[in-house]
Amino acid sequence: MKILVLNAGSSSQKTCLYRIESVLPEHPSVPLWEGRIQLDGDQAEIRAKDSRGATFEDSIKVQQGTSSVAQLLDNLWSQKAQAVAAPSAVDVVAHRIVNGGSEFKDPALITPEVKTAIARMASLAPLHNSVELDGIEFIEKRFGSVPQVAVFDTGFHSSLPEPAYVYPGPYEWLARGIRRYGFHGINHQYCAERAAQLLSGELGSLKIVTCHLGNGCSLAAVHAGQSVDTTMGFTPLEGLMMGTRSGSLDPGILTYLMRQGFTGAQLDELLNRKSGLLAISGISGDMREIVNAMKEGHPRAKLAFEIFVHRLRSCIGAMIATLGGIDALVFTAGIGENSPEVRAEACAKFGFLGVELDSVKNAQPSQDRDISQSDSAVRVFVVRAQEDWAMAKAAWKLLSTKVGG
Ligand code: AMP
Repeated sequence: MKILVLNAGSSSQKTCLYRIESVLPEHPSVPLWEGRIQLDGDQAEIRAKDSRGATFEDSIKVQQGTSSVAQLLDNLWSQKAQAVAAPSAVDVVAHRIVNGGSEFKDPALITPEVKTAIARMASLAPLHNSVELDGIEFIEKRFGSVPQVAVFDTGFHSSLPEPAYVYPGPYEWLARGIRRYGFHGINHQYCAERAAQLLSGELGSLKIVTCHLGNGCSLAAVHAGQSVDTTMGFTPLEGLMMGTRSGSLDPGILTYLMRQGFTGAQLDELLNRKSGLLAISGISGDMREIVNAMKEGHPRAKLAFEIFVHRLRSCIGAMIATLGGIDALVFTAGIGENSPEVRAEACAKFGFLGVELDSVKNAQPSQDRDISQSDSAVRVFVVRAQEDWAMAKAAWKLLSTKVGG
């Protein structure tokens, strides 16, 4: 089965083509082809490569007023992907949908009703759900009746218990959909399963904290394979400090700023794009640049790094408290996979729980590895984020079950 995966972000679009035969492989396959588009204003950088290593790069100007997803994917495919990703060669298309609200737990075949529900949820995730709907409609136009599957980033967190998802605001909020949903669920679930595989093979009753630290950052507390707590909430703004997002703040700051005349749109912009590492350091939202500047003695880069780590440790502690213990701590995504500095600082205060990092293994840049000392009471893993592969697997499973009856 050939599975095309569309993973749309607010300013990026990733597309992969996987082949999965009749048996699901234990480890992620290499995609036959993958392309990534990064938007910067009306400029888009396009990069693609196939499994044999052939690469393609281009830069285009995106026209205003038409769907940027359609323009970008058309441009990407007009190059050389038609041969591998032509409509006739694709059996199913999987889409990452950021917010499935309370309605969607499991991956769903996209029907007109599912599309309406995704559109309804767009008010909860305005930067994402509408771009993802554009992707679904683009595929309908180009690929006709090929089955499409929605995989929800919120789905894994649908197991959160009530005290973890109800906000202590007015009780009526709940009926209006104002509750904690959690995000990055596709990768938190994948990482918890991968950690279990690396440990013993079974999720059993394992207590795992997964740290997804990328442009967006969130943690999940996973008990026996179920998400029981997470740091993101109603929107992907709650919780940890991020590249350009603030994470949790005293809500009194917002009401104070509104009394000073700030509008909702201005606050959205401040908290989502002008906060976090970028705002504190004054130089960048990228952890690589923060660490480099800190090493050169830049005081605000040092402060940004220290706030990031301070909040990360507090939230890891909160996840462990919810779980009542911890068997494994997992680091994943851009920062989690690539920053030995962040991993070392995050673990440094958990020696009292028996977390003992191996500094040599922590410094080694190889993938999916145990970086704790052999006598550490808690295993610490680095797991490469494999969202696209997880979505391909979910679509394969859904279609195989449907075909199998
Ligand atoms: P992601 O959203 O998972 O693609 O992660 C992107 C982020 O990972 C970037 O913005 C960087 O902050 C971070 N990152 C990538 N490589 C490194 C690295 N070598 N060291 C520290 N941070 C990194």
